Amino acid sequence: MVNLLQFDRGALGDWCEQQGEQAFRATQLFRWIHQRGERDFTAMSNLAKSFRDKLVASAHVAGLPVASEQVAEDGTIKWLFDVGAGDAVETVFIPETGRGTLCISSQAGCAVNCRFCATGHQGFSRNLTTAEIVAQLWHAEFELRRRLGLREGERAITNVVMMGMGEPLQNYANLVPALRTMLDDHGYGLSRRRVTVSTSGVVPMIDRLRDDCPVALAVSLHAPDDALRDELVPLNRKYPIAELLASARRYLERAPRDFITIEYCMLDGVNDSPAQAGALLALLRGDGSAATPGLACKVNLIPFNPFAASGLKRSPAARVAAFAAVLQEGGIVTTIRKTRGDDIAAACGQLAGEVQDRTRVVERRARALPVRVAPPASRRRFGEGVAPGRRP
Ligand code: SAH
Ligand code: SF4
Repeated sequence: MVNLLQFDRGALGDWCEQQGEQAFRATQLFRWIHQRGERDFTAMSNLAKSFRDKLVASAHVAGLPVASEQVAEDGTIKWLFDVGAGDAVETVFIPETGRGTLCISSQAGCAVNCRFCATGHQGFSRNLTTAEIVAQLWHAEFELRRRLGLREGERAITNVVMMGMGEPLQNYANLVPALRTMLDDHGYGLSRRRVTVSTSGVVPMIDRLRDDCPVALAVSLHAPDDALRDELVPLNRKYPIAELLASARRYLERAPRDFITIEYCMLDGVNDSPAQAGALLALLRGDGSAATPGLACKVNLIPFNPFAASGLKRSPAARVAAFAAVLQEGGIVTTIRKTRGDDIAAACGQLAGEVQDRTRVVERRARALPVRVAPPASRRRFGEGVAPGRRP
């Protein structure tokens, strides 16, 4: 059985041709799956009966089993998906006025092992397949459409950020077809500006993404100098800051936005001093010389979301504000990320769905963290009707 969530439209066309069908059938099939959320081939009324029979016999549209679902006070929803063999990954939906953002995982665990990241602390288990990446969006989009009573064509998810568990650019081969499905007008139809890949700095893959599928790019910098970044983001030893910023500048030549987002996690007493803000400003603004050319960017300061075992603390709000002021006064647009869903550990860097004890931990965890079904009335919109359970 082949899972059709695995294919972008081009690959689905190839597969259909192998089945003796004309390529345009693939577009019809793709639309059923990704625009209507249909998984029952017999309901795909514009496909010939013979093709539907073939599909029933050889293919399926397989979402991921939901191990648990939690709804935060602020309407954020976190799904824990079981990806088998004791691994689980998390997906977070963040409702905001006028938009809905889905934060998607790319790997079970992560090999980069950043000091401040719960996913990194879990170690690396495996890459997600394209089907597993797309299944997170497929599940969330159609589940939310049902709950919100949206009409056909109305979308629940308007933005995707590859900021869940894992380093997307260390799973490049599976990432790109998933991005294509997100962008496809016959799929989710998201604009390139509304799909963001966040990376800790896999330089060669930033260059490839620029050529293959340029979407919005966020670079997780976290330090203004190599000595500190080596400690916080071990990948820096392989691809130091100067190389990383050079690849970001090359990316801009094809990027859908005219800036790169720089993410900077604010760690108390580690990377948050006024001197470090000054050094970051100098690095990003540059001085126009070939040695220090700067980068067209916006900075997003992320207050550290603590987790047990990190041994790190969140910078006090006043220090974050002072850091932001240095950058802003230097002419760099700087925002401070609002923490969302922290009461359900759904905030940046708190995702740790990977399960260390591989003996039924997913089930135990689901029992230990009961689904919350009663957000405050003002937040009901996205909370209503939430029920635990697996997909049928
Ligand atoms: N691996 C990619 C994408 C996933 S992490 C990357 O590192 O960019 C998404 C963002 O969350 C990154 O900017 C990451 O640095 C940040 N992050 C990780 N742990 C965090 C924590 N504990 N608190 C706040 N932000 C964190
Ligand atoms: Fe991996 Fe990103 Fe976490 Fe670093 S911050 S360990 S790259 S998921």
